[in-house]
Amino acid sequence: MCLNRGCIPSKALIASAAEYKRMKEAEQFGLKLATPPIYDWLAMRTRNDKIVKMLTGGIGQLFKSHGVDHYQGYGHVSGKDYVTVVAEDGSETKLKARNIIIATGSRAASIPGVAIDGHRIVTSDHLLELENLPASMLIIGAGVIGCEWAFMLAMLDVKVTVVEMLDRALPMEDVSTSKQIERELKKLKVDVHTKTRINQVTPGPQGVTAELAGGKKVEANQVLVAVGRRFNVEEMGLEEIGVKMNKNGSIKTNQSMKTNIDNIYAIGDVRGEILLAYTAVHDGTVAVDNALGEKAKKNYLGVPSVIFTHPEVASVGMREEEAAEKHSIAIGKFPLRTLGKAHAENEIAGEVKLIGDKKTDKLLGAHIVGVHATEIIHTCALAINQGMTVKQLGSLIFGHPVISESIMEAAHDLHGMSVHLARKRK
Ligand code: NAD
Repeated sequence: MCLNRGCIPSKALIASAAEYKRMKEAEQFGLKLATPPIYDWLAMRTRNDKIVKMLTGGIGQLFKSHGVDHYQGYGHVSGKDYVTVVAEDGSETKLKARNIIIATGSRAASIPGVAIDGHRIVTSDHLLELENLPASMLIIGAGVIGCEWAFMLAMLDVKVTVVEMLDRALPMEDVSTSKQIERELKKLKVDVHTKTRINQVTPGPQGVTAELAGGKKVEANQVLVAVGRRFNVEEMGLEEIGVKMNKNGSIKTNQSMKTNIDNIYAIGDVRGEILLAYTAVHDGTVAVDNALGEKAKKNYLGVPSVIFTHPEVASVGMREEEAAEKHSIAIGKFPLRTLGKAHAENEIAGEVKLIGDKKTDKLLGAHIVGVHATEIIHTCALAINQGMTVKQLGSLIFGHPVISESIMEAAHDLHGMSVHLARKRK
């Protein structure tokens, strides 16, 4: 999923959209383009398809080199020690297995009154296969997928409207992050309606009409539904062998990735805990270690969140609200507009915000909005994973000029010691 329809293709398209935006801003770099830039959506898709093909082909090679047999087809657990694979031509292969790991992931969810038809009302999977970009798009849900696509489409000159039922875009992130992201969406002329539900979406010949709660109507050529995920657990023989499920329909496991059936493990989205490709990889390592007789447990301490909006968003640890409930906290901030390298890159939007424990000085959370946020967050992730203090983080001599200096500056600011920020009045 990550390679075929998830992380990689969407990031390749986001890179194209960002490049197009930068070309439009060429004059700010002292460059003059002979003609205004235009983009070619199909060429962007071709580039994308090539990247995906190369990477998925690479996996086939890795399977071969590690002696992994690959059966293509629909698999189901056909007994505690058996998996049956039904191929496209209907032929069945029954495999005996000492251990079984279920890694079937999730798929886009929908909401009542909004029937996904793959044409007018689509998921992010369908968007990757569009022949043409629509002139306007209504996005339901301002979570990770909704926001990533809102930025990408708006950078490609699509008129975007976003409807989110909670009170802010990216509601899972720190409030300060949502504020900055909403501001940046506004700069790209994206209409964001928060605290708003959709009553109904009616497809028509030219597009769709959406009725928002409160009666307001929004017209758009297409609707992207990005309201979360459903777990791929159906018709897999799980009920028959008595695998226990969580209330939300995902598979219940313990910290070792084991289900209630001793030799059956589940990893990744289908467990319903964190829906991320990189935690799924960690889960997989834990499951395999246990299947091989070791005693491994998951360790999610310091898992970063990385969101490919423009500017990017990345965070790790606690949000301010949660930290303030549990600790007496101190906050350090450093805006990118104060940083030389951000000006050199012409990317001055965003800030680094660090949250520390006032008593112990332990780093509790880091929230970064800005260029390369998804890369530089890992310094903070390591600090949280290793239980470091803000002072320790700020005492590292960072390279110069680099964007990650903003982490050092925010750490200094938390102690009132950032020399590149005006002194705060006591
Ligand atoms: P999400 O949970 O991130 O966001 C869904 C949003 O839709 C929420 O803000 C929710 O309040 C809103 N919503 C739900 N019902 C609604 C309704 N009826 N009307 C209006 N708004 C409504 O889910 P997603 O964006 O679909 O992403 C799915 C998963 O994939 C997430 O867990 C995400 O972490 C993961 N993902 C991660 C990345 C990344 O790491 N960069 C990228 C894409 C997806």
